[in-house]
Amino acid sequence: MGLIRCKTKWVLYRWLRKRGVWKGEKWLLPNDQSVIAALKSVDSQFPTDPAALDAVATDLVAQDSSLASGGEKLLGKSAKRDRENALNAQRVLVSIVSPVELPKKDASYSSEAYADFIRSEAWRGIRYLALRLYGNKCRACGRTPANGVQIHVDHIKPCSVDWSRRLDLLNLQVLCEDCNLGKSNLFSDDWR
Ligand SMILES: [Zn+2]
Repeated sequence: MGLIRCKTKWVLYRWLRKRGVWKGEKWLLPNDQSVIAALKSVDSQFPTDPAALDAVATDLVAQDSSLASGGEKLLGKSAKRDRENALNAQRVLVSIVSPVELPKKDASYSSEAYADFIRSEAWRGIRYLALRLYGNKCRACGRTPANGVQIHVDHIKPCSVDWSRRLDLLNLQVLCEDCNLGKSNLFSDDWR
């Protein structure tokens, strides 16, 4: 049997402390045997294999993020803040450079319906027709898979803005992932 990873051990240790099972020294990383003994005292079914304990620790953190280390929590927070800042900056820029208002959301659109739609046979069929019609080259920046980009078939009028045009071939264009994610649901630019 191998050793339990430090990171895993800290998560299990914090969880045990929270449940009041662990009463030992707060700042010393306990040895494997004491952690396993403490886990077994909670539930004799607890696995002892280090890989299985890694999975247990991942589940515990997913249920209670306070069990993650301070560093991980901070990184998670700052990544979230960066994403929000980038999104807000993009919205501000759009409101300055674009003479049109931010698009209104179509009431028929929902992220659940979109998730089903994007996996549907109907979408795969029409998407493939768009690739045949326009070729697998980004219409906005000209790059192809040979340049290492991933090709997307984009809804010119975004699905979230006009749900009724989701299967309209004339509403489709080929963009690379960068251009498509940049366009997002903010623009209805036709690059064809
Ligand atoms: Zn592109």
